Amino acid sequence: TKWVYGFGGGSAEGRSDMRELLGGKGANLAEMCNLGLPVPPGFTITTEVCTAFYDNDRAYPDGLNAEVETALASVEKHVGRKFGDAKDPLLVSVRSGARASMPGMMDTVLNLGLNDETVEGLATVSGDRRFAYDSYRRFIQMYGDVVLGVDHYHFEDILETVKEDKGVSLDTDMGADDWAEVVEAFKKKVKTELGEPFPQDPREQLWGAIGAVFGSWMNARANTYRRLHNIPASWGTAVNVQAMVFGNMGDDCATGVCFSRNPSTGEDRFYGEYLINAQGEDVVAGIRTPAPLTEIEKQESGSDLISMEAAMPVVFKELCDIREKLESHYRDMQDMEFTVESGKLYMLQTRAGKRTAKAALRIAVEMCRDGVISQEDAIRRVDPAQLDQLLHPTLDPEADRKVVGMGLPASPGAASGQIVFSAEAAEEWAGKGRKVVLVRIETSPEDIAGMHAAQGILTSRGGMTSHAAVVARGMGTPCVCGAGAVKIDYANKTMMSGGVTLKEGDVITLDGATGEVMLGEVATLKPDLSGDFSQLMEWADALRRLKIRTNAETPEEAETARGFGAEGIGLCRTEHMFFDPERIVSMREMILAETEKGRRTALAKLLPYQRQDFIDLFRIMKGLPVTIRLLDPPLHEFLPHGDAEIADVAKAAGVSEAIVKRRLLDLAEANPMLGHRGCRLGISYPEIYEMQARAIFEAAIEVSKDGGDPVIPEIMIPLIVGKKELEILKAAIIKVAAQVEDEKGAKLKYLVGTMIELPRAALRAGEIAEEAEFFSFGTNDLTQTTFGLSRDDASRFLDTYISKDIFAGDPFVSLDQEGVGELVSIAAERGRATRADIKLGICGEHGGDPASIAFCEAQGLDYVSCSPYRVPIARLAAAQAVL
Ligand code: ADP
Ligand code: MG
Ligand code: MG
Repeated sequence: TKWVYGFGGGSAEGRSDMRELLGGKGANLAEMCNLGLPVPPGFTITTEVCTAFYDNDRAYPDGLNAEVETALASVEKHVGRKFGDAKDPLLVSVRSGARASMPGMMDTVLNLGLNDETVEGLATVSGDRRFAYDSYRRFIQMYGDVVLGVDHYHFEDILETVKEDKGVSLDTDMGADDWAEVVEAFKKKVKTELGEPFPQDPREQLWGAIGAVFGSWMNARANTYRRLHNIPASWGTAVNVQAMVFGNMGDDCATGVCFSRNPSTGEDRFYGEYLINAQGEDVVAGIRTPAPLTEIEKQESGSDLISMEAAMPVVFKELCDIREKLESHYRDMQDMEFTVESGKLYMLQTRAGKRTAKAALRIAVEMCRDGVISQEDAIRRVDPAQLDQLLHPTLDPEADRKVVGMGLPASPGAASGQIVFSAEAAEEWAGKGRKVVLVRIETSPEDIAGMHAAQGILTSRGGMTSHAAVVARGMGTPCVCGAGAVKIDYANKTMMSGGVTLKEGDVITLDGATGEVMLGEVATLKPDLSGDFSQLMEWADALRRLKIRTNAETPEEAETARGFGAEGIGLCRTEHMFFDPERIVSMREMILAETEKGRRTALAKLLPYQRQDFIDLFRIMKGLPVTIRLLDPPLHEFLPHGDAEIADVAKAAGVSEAIVKRRLLDLAEANPMLGHRGCRLGISYPEIYEMQARAIFEAAIEVSKDGGDPVIPEIMIPLIVGKKELEILKAAIIKVAAQVEDEKGAKLKYLVGTMIELPRAALRAGEIAEEAEFFSFGTNDLTQTTFGLSRDDASRFLDTYISKDIFAGDPFVSLDQEGVGELVSIAAERGRATRADIKLGICGEHGGDPASIAFCEAQGLDYVSCSPYRVPIARLAAAQAVL
């Protein structure tokens, strides 16, 4: 096996399609080299080394050492300097790089190779002693923190103290001797903390850093990030070792981050930030506020800093050319890092840029219109789950805003919540069901879980490419960053802004599209789904085969889903129609009645409500298919609680409270989910389903009088285990239909079908299809019963199961294709064997999950049905599923 891949001098051993082996960073560094772009030479230690490292008790594979030496020698040759040479040392950066970009991994170590001797060499060669010692102190700080585990605040404290002593406030005002003093203090600190001196041997430093990158693959931060993003631990990370270039050698030096298009809006305009006389980390860490790259950006943002376009026009032009070259090569928006050393430009990274959903849509649609990518590519480019960001409200521009602060519009969307000042508090409060806005001076990868829990994120420091901004955009969380006027006091848990002091728990609203910070909760508006959104949806609709229906029972839900493009209702849960205060009493009366007569009396009171519900739904759905599930839930969900409710029911039924209470005892079940529910109720009390069928049929005839497409209700029987139940219940439904036709002198068209939600039903699907005209896979119950796992109780151990890799994920979120999926597949096959044109769909929560939708496509189902807000996601996922 080859463990190390070199790059430099205009060519590379790797390529961009080798990201599994080289990680994203390494593969793209190689590709940029191959494209002839200016990239400092270096080498990549593969992800296979990481895997081997963990397979062998954290030992490196044989031969690695020799390959690293060879690769290092080649870098030395390209640069013309030797690693560890006291006179003219080669310095390197050590950078982690997994397949997917992953905050939470080890931070990069820059300037590696410096020690007490080489720093003098660097000072002499560069003719800049200040620069040499500035680089050395940075190196000790980074290496000390990320490799040796000396907490960074030790270094920060020392730096503050030295600055105070000297009466200096800015890093840029520190001189060579000042930095030398800092270096001594840093080394002393390392020695007292670790009991060992700071390593002086460059090779020891190199292997220390490499080991730290591999070690960080399994740290807590990385594990959390992987869990949140479904990245398997088996992928491993690569390590990149690369010759240093210096952006901190004077005013003809700079470092920056740029995007080939605006990552927030998607606009096709070069966008970025840079800092003169700085090293890479400074931009992201938010230590100094970066300047805009372009003049137009400077004007629009009102920044008083000088743009790169104005400060370094020649290098800027070169960077513009690279922007075009890389974007047309990768045919996607690029996120790039660069450094300018003494007027010479170097590229240090490129990758597909993280973007908001809005930007993703705009970029995909515009690139397709410009002929850069195909419609299929455009569809593939947008993550369906990300669309969720666009479906939710934005701030009402008319609403009153008490603006108390302003920052950068880092990630769009509106967020209101109670402020908290730490990631831990955000997690804790959110765990209690509260909406929080996380307020931090800046964020770091340790804050990931808290950022995830927050509705919105506000920082007082850092630019559009700071950690907070990048992560928030990735998560689709509204974020305002770099709000410099917001003064945050962690100790007292307060923030001061615009003359007001807010404490933990006070409510603020953020507008991530404008950067405004507002007091209290501000009113919101419905989202606008025209433009790029409808264009991409149109392309997706033209491509997909699966129909998309919705799970809806109220007119509002049906209306919302229609607005999102639902093509029918796949699941109308009739029991949800009985919780209304007016109806629940009659419902309880029906359940608690001891005789058929008693039940019929109560059902007669429910009939008009139920009929009106269906009339409303049919009118909204205008002839689109509507699948109605007859009463399903365990009856205990409807039982009265407490004396007052019991008294109400007793009164309505005209019986004593004692009788109601005794009946309650009769009805108690040890395991209601597997008890007297679903069609079992229909079998015991046929009058319930008869009433429901009558309501459906009468509504269908009523609405048919409106003209337009006829209503063809699909009546669905839940929880059957075999053919017999369906036979009995279908016959009863047909009888009601005939009666209604007679009474109204009208003809009815309808289908009778069944849920497949128990393993036995899936297995007996062949004979069930003799009766059923359609199957709808109720994958929630099918998952519960296949796993023998209660949805309401699973959360206690699910995390453990997932972290121990027993389950790949939550089977209630993404369909278990191996087990539950096999039952679906068996049922579909046996059902079709009996009835070739049987209609098949799924109506569990899985209907809105892209991976599950891909499975449904593979099974050739006719439709998926999901909650209204997931309809657009399902439309796009269904299109991706046929690609
Ligand atoms: P991340 O993945 O967190 O962006 P990087 O490895 O890209 O970490 O590096 C962090 C910063 O250090 C970036 O700004 C990068 O451009 C800079 N950097 C990395 N390697 C070098 C190098 N060889 N010379 C100069 N700057 C570098
Ligand atoms: Mg980077
Ligand atoms: Mg069910």
